[in-house]
Amino acid sequence: MLPGATTTTTLGSTLLLSLPFFSVSVLAHAGAHESARGLPGPGYWYQRDNHPVHDLFKRDSAGATDGVSYPAVGSDGWSNGWPTQWSNGSPTPRAEWVTALNAAVARKAIPTYAPSTVTEDGGIPTYASGLNPTDASVCSGTYGCAIPGDVWNAPDGHIGISFDDGPLPPTDPLLDFLDAQTGKPTVTHFFIGSNILEQPAQFSRAFARGDDLAVHTWTHPMMTTRSNEDVVGEIGWTMELIHNSTGGRVPRFWRPPYGDTDTRVSAIAKEVFGLTTIVWNQDTADWSLTDSPPGTSLSAINSSYSGWLKGSKSPGLIVLEHELSNDSVNAFKSAWPEIVAEGWQISSLATLIGNGTVYLNAVDDTAAVNPVQDVVLAASVGLPKSSSAAPTQSGANLQAGGAGAGTAASAGSTASAKPTAAGTSAAQISFAAPSVTLFLAAFAAVLVVVL
Ligand SMILES: [Zn+2]
Repeated sequence: MLPGATTTTTLGSTLLLSLPFFSVSVLAHAGAHESARGLPGPGYWYQRDNHPVHDLFKRDSAGATDGVSYPAVGSDGWSNGWPTQWSNGSPTPRAEWVTALNAAVARKAIPTYAPSTVTEDGGIPTYASGLNPTDASVCSGTYGCAIPGDVWNAPDGHIGISFDDGPLPPTDPLLDFLDAQTGKPTVTHFFIGSNILEQPAQFSRAFARGDDLAVHTWTHPMMTTRSNEDVVGEIGWTMELIHNSTGGRVPRFWRPPYGDTDTRVSAIAKEVFGLTTIVWNQDTADWSLTDSPPGTSLSAINSSYSGWLKGSKSPGLIVLEHELSNDSVNAFKSAWPEIVAEGWQISSLATLIGNGTVYLNAVDDTAAVNPVQDVVLAASVGLPKSSSAAPTQSGANLQAGGAGAGTAASAGSTASAKPTAAGTSAAQISFAAPSVTLFLAAFAAVLVVVL
């Protein structure tokens, strides 16, 4: 029996329901290249300059860049040279990312226990004998354990809006809907690298409207089952693709598929890439609407939303939503009037958690970009001097524990200590060290000049 007998049934059924999701994803991908495409017009293979498609690929439409000329999103130059999409294994990481990983391991910033094992994605991972997934030393997100520094809750009174698994064709009706609302609210997209390569138009549209872009891995695996190098490859390539497609912006947030993280995976994300892990505290199960038979219904989702929205506003809400199908987008559209009516403060999740700063080297999609040579260096480079917003955590009350998604919360709040202040986890302290060193070095240099 799994630890936490009262939560096991709910947790288990939730995870089992998620099993068909991945196969749906893979099937959608398998057919993506099968339809023949005609030429744009007689005698030419390219779209005329006045064709509306060019509006989709204007590189600088969303604002400042790092000054580097990247291939236009959607062009051959842009889509060439990346790891295989939807491969069974994780993409091989760049050598410099492995160097950063090895350095983090050497300073004992990465736990050394073996990856979990699982029979199918969406299942319940198991750990080697002697390891307890709800103990603070492992703290598996799948078991509901919240790692200090990881984000499960929104600030009181707030709801952070986000969508997983895009970009995909249903991204369009989602953005159509958001564009039609008062104030054209922006949202966070946890994008899958393999999907970005297939859906450049939807990717560009999300970026151009000012939505916040975050990482959801390259092939959507259960990350605790993967080796250190695999974790680095899954995250690093997705970060680099977003970086090269947004004028040089480096994501600051990522969400592990299935919420499956542990102290090893979250530490790699933080130590190697400077990423903050965001999970959720309520789950619509909207991904299962298209299962056969469906795992939930529109009315069930509406009912769940009503309960969350009319309930306590402490903590605030982070609801797991997907831009995976028209049905899942419709579930959000159906809930939106009540989200607005119940008096919640609504914002993009990354903007909310990041205090307005959604990238490691830029405040948002239009602000100045601090150039980085490599995504692993983004966190130490920091924000442009013109930025007024500090890249701080939004507050210790957002992180770890609290009233999570039923099963998740109780295990998390007992298994891990609440941080006493922003950025107090061991990982954050050691990650900040290079910046402190740089600062001291700069200070010493100034002293030398003065003296
Ligand atoms: Zn996902």
